[in-house]
Amino acid sequence: MVAQTRNTRVLVVEKPLPVFASGDVPGKLVSMVVAGVKSIPTKLTNRIRSRGCRIVVCKNLLEECPRFKNEPLDNGLEEAERRTWDNLPAISGRTTFIAERYKHDITKKIRRLEDPKETTRHEVCHVVDDYFSYNNWPISHRTQFRIAYNKDVGRLALSTKRRLFYYIQNTLETGRAEVFADVLAILCGGGCQKDCTGYSDEYFLRCFSNSRSYIERNILNGG
Ligand SMILES: [Zn+2]
Repeated sequence: MVAQTRNTRVLVVEKPLPVFASGDVPGKLVSMVVAGVKSIPTKLTNRIRSRGCRIVVCKNLLEECPRFKNEPLDNGLEEAERRTWDNLPAISGRTTFIAERYKHDITKKIRRLEDPKETTRHEVCHVVDDYFSYNNWPISHRTQFRIAYNKDVGRLALSTKRRLFYYIQNTLETGRAEVFADVLAILCGGGCQKDCTGYSDEYFLRCFSNSRSYIERNILNGG
């Protein structure tokens, strides 16, 4: 019997957020992840670092955290997209994992993460959403953000809504959290939305202009 050895995690940088490399992940991938973290304003990364948030760059999510297999993916959207733990390239939390490889949800082929910088930025923006407030109440749950988001969604054309499927799901408020993460990520240098919508970042920001104003006013320039 071969004993399962847990990958050793090495601290690569302490600031702006602690980033750990687990096992023999490529140095280039780790540098891209660090670059993604550095593109977020330090006032935001300082805040989430003080709450114990950190990043682990690993080969594969399930290899890194076998316990995930027994945990349900916590939103209906992931199921609607046929997402499983196998085909997630990253997951945010107090410890955010960014994986080098994941299974493509349609082709089922193992692929490498192509946009580590954007993915990291997007995930860190979810962490900002979840850990910015000291009472653990996500920013995307705040009434004023909810109003801004609903205003944006309310005026989208049906054809646009179809393409923005991932961002207008109401299941467990996932859509709103995804808009928060990607609008903030775009404002910090670029998000992940292009991959599933095919829209430019500029157009995406126009679709969610009220959400954008809220984020600029309260998170980037205020707070
Ligand atoms: Zn997301």
